[in-house]
Parts: sequence; structure tokens; C-alpha cells
Amino acid sequence: MPKFFIKTYGCQMNERDSEQVAHSLVTRGYERVGHESEADVVLLNTCSVRDMADQKALGKMGMLGRLAKERPHMVFGFLGCMAQARGGELLKGLPHVDLVVGTQKFHRVADYVDELVAKKNRSLENVQRLTPNAQRPTERRIDDLRCSIIDVEEEAGSQSTIRDQRVTLKQATAFVSIMQGCNMHCTFCIVPQTRGAERGRSIGDIVAEVRHLVSRGVKEVTLLGQIVNLYGRHEFPKVAGKSPFVQLLEAVHEVEGLERIRFTSPHPIGFRDDLIDAISRLPKLAEHVHLPLQSGSNKILKAMHRAYTAEKYLNLVKRIRRARNGISITTDIIVGFPGETDDDHRQTRDLAKQIQFDNAFVFRYSPRRDTPAAEMPDQIAELVKEKRNQDLLEVVNDSNRRILERLVGSQVEVLCEGPSKTNCTRLMGRTRTNKIVVFPPSQKQRPTGKSEELVGQLVNVRIERANGFSLYGMPLLE
Ligand code: SF4
Repeated sequence: MPKFFIKTYGCQMNERDSEQVAHSLVTRGYERVGHESEADVVLLNTCSVRDMADQKALGKMGMLGRLAKERPHMVFGFLGCMAQARGGELLKGLPHVDLVVGTQKFHRVADYVDELVAKKNRSLENVQRLTPNAQRPTERRIDDLRCSIIDVEEEAGSQSTIRDQRVTLKQATAFVSIMQGCNMHCTFCIVPQTRGAERGRSIGDIVAEVRHLVSRGVKEVTLLGQIVNLYGRHEFPKVAGKSPFVQLLEAVHEVEGLERIRFTSPHPIGFRDDLIDAISRLPKLAEHVHLPLQSGSNKILKAMHRAYTAEKYLNLVKRIRRARNGISITTDIIVGFPGETDDDHRQTRDLAKQIQFDNAFVFRYSPRRDTPAAEMPDQIAELVKEKRNQDLLEVVNDSNRRILERLVGSQVEVLCEGPSKTNCTRLMGRTRTNKIVVFPPSQKQRPTGKSEELVGQLVNVRIERANGFSLYGMPLLE
């Protein structure tokens, strides 16, 4: 059977979508490989949130043109957000691309790949019959092999098709897609165009997926959605004053054997009393909230179409911290939004300093076509953006470092995920507050001497040092 390679750009939702596609191909007998040079089918699952992500995927596909010439039977495809935003335009300048599939059609990819593989093989056989002495088909013949499929249509119910995934023998954590799309229309964001309107899966469907994952050994799930805490608001009613998202959290919380629940990315306006209450009373909810701030200036928040103020955000942080002791709060911040003055930037900096985030992703504003912010006056020079980026990073890195250093000497519960990426003789996992911990396997906790036996286990670790964004420690023997 053909071999496929899939490369994912962007967010965790894209990772999850790629796993869905990989699962559907493996189910049909395709073999997944780790590099494009070994593959017959190469799929790039793209991101459009920043220009750099677009450029990376386009550059990668451009380089793959060389492989297409050497091995004309190969199939090349763009999937996901950039495919949705640009459609057939992607074929211009990249004539070896055979497949362009948008965000509501991931479940069709395996059918399309089957079709393209069969078509190319048939055409190639014909070419070889017609030119039996040729080492390789000529350029013109290669042109004859091209047969693109473009599908970027909307499809009702597509949110419920991201539901199957391959769980490896020792897999501690998994992502579960609970919804697609976003209706918020923040002025900088292309997501409402690439992912469409908000559509939620049913609670029963999501719980069934979580049960299946737990039955395969998964201990922690992360519920995914573009505005995850506003899940189901247009489709499902409130029950006893609880939003559909809180109802979902309660239902997932009931799954026996599940140890931890996370969710990302929420919107600050979705943290109403019922969700704050759930944070305080559902023990499986891990002590971590990712809470995108975007800016600390009310003028910029308004221009971004973010429906909260810096004061409301700060108040929300206090309510979340009161609801659960020791909860960590991370954020996203954009610097250099159109019209952002030095004073606006100072307000963001001051707020970040006051809140002391556990971590923050700081992005330089990147204009996206067909978004209102791209047309706004007073676009900020790249040099200024870079300066503000560095300035804010100093603040958030400082709070991150101090929070990690405070943990040195303490004992934390770590869910072991597998070998450390930087040192395979060590293991890595995360605390409930989502801090990465690296530690050596302990003899006592691995009866057969195999460190993999700790994967999926909750291990108590004494933290010995903090370095950059990670903690290092020793497992405590029972
Ligand atoms: S909430 Fe705003 S930033 Fe987030 S996906 Fe929706 S439009 Fe984009």
C-alpha cells in the first residue's frame, strides 16, 4: 500500500485534524512514514493565522516540486486553513499540487487520496506503455498525469467527523475536538473565514470518544475549540443555569479512569459564574487556564473587537485564582496592532506585570487579508513591533522564571508522557498546572526495568531545579 507523510503547521486543532486524516488513511491500509522522501503521498495541513505560517507551507510545497519531478506517481496536497482561504489559487505556481481540501472536509481526504493514487498509477502505466524505452516520463507526459481535486465547500455536520484517532500502546494524553468555527470576528483574525461558523458536537458523542480514549489508557484529555468555553451556545440549551460547556465538563468529569481535563482556547467573555463555579468544584479540571488577553489597552481591545476591558480581564483573573488555589494562568498577547501607541503598549506591559502570568505567547501583529485590521490606518513598523515584542517578553519571561523557581524543593504530581525530547534517557511529563517536568526513571517504579512502564502513570516528583521553561526533579519512591 502507498505510504503517506503528513506535516502539520499551527495549533492543536490542526494537530488533531491531522490525526483524524492519518487515522482514516491507516484504516485503509496506508502506511504512515516520518519523512516526505519515503512517501507516495505528502499532505501539508496548513495554518493561516500569521503570514509566516502561510509562507512556511508554501515554501515547503515549493521545495517538494523537485520530488514531484523525480517521482511523478506521488500525490501532493494542501489541507486545512490556508487551503480553505486560498482554494484553487494554490495551484498557480505550484503545478505539482493535486489536492486542496478545506477545513470542513478532512473526512473526505482518504477518498480523494485513493482516487488520486489510482488515477496517477493508471496514467503512469499508460505513459510507460506509450513510451516503453523512456527512463522517466517527459515533462509533457508528466503534465498529462495532473488531475487536481479541490474541495473547500462547507458541509453540515462536519464538526462531528473529527472523532477517531489512533491511540498508541502507551499514550497518556489526547486532544478531543468538541467544536469547529468561531463567530466572534476579532478584527485581526482569519479563523472565522477559514473555520466557518461555530458548530458543536453533541455531549454524548464527545463523552463516547473520551470513554474510548480512557479505555485505551489515556489519562488526560484536552477539549479543543476555537472558543471552547462558548461551546454549543447556539445549539444546546442551558440546563439549571449551566451553559452547554459546563454541562459537557460535568459529563466528561464522570468518565471513570480519567484523571485530568484541560480545555483550550477559551474566550474571556465565556467565563461566567457557572464556569468559575465548575473550576472550584470539579477536581479533575487541571489547575491551568489559558486566557488570551491580546492587549492591555482598552482602546486597542475595542479596535480588536474583543468584548472586554483590561479591568474586566484583571477581575476575571482574580476570580479564577480565588476559585482554585495555585491555578496557573497563561495568555496570548499581540503587539503592534494598528494604531497601538507607546502608551497602549505600556498599558499592556503594566497589566502583564501586575498579573504575573505563568507563561505568555507574544505575537507581532501580522496583517491577514480580508480581515478588518489589515485595512486599518496606522499600521505599525516591523522594527517597532520587534522592540515591543522583546520588551514584553522580558516581562513575561521574568514572571515565568520566578514562578518556576518557587517550585524548587516542592513535590508535584506529574503525568508521565514519555521520553524527554532533549534527552531520551529521561522521562517527561506535566504537572497539573501544565509545567513540563523532566526526571530520571526510578527502578522501583518500573518493575520490568523498562522506563516506558511509567508512561501514563502519575508520578510524584521532587523538583530540584528550574531551567528556562522546564523543571527538573527526582521521582519519589513510595
Ligand atoms: S475568538 Fe477571535 S481570535 Fe479567537 S478564533 Fe474567534 S475570531 Fe479568532
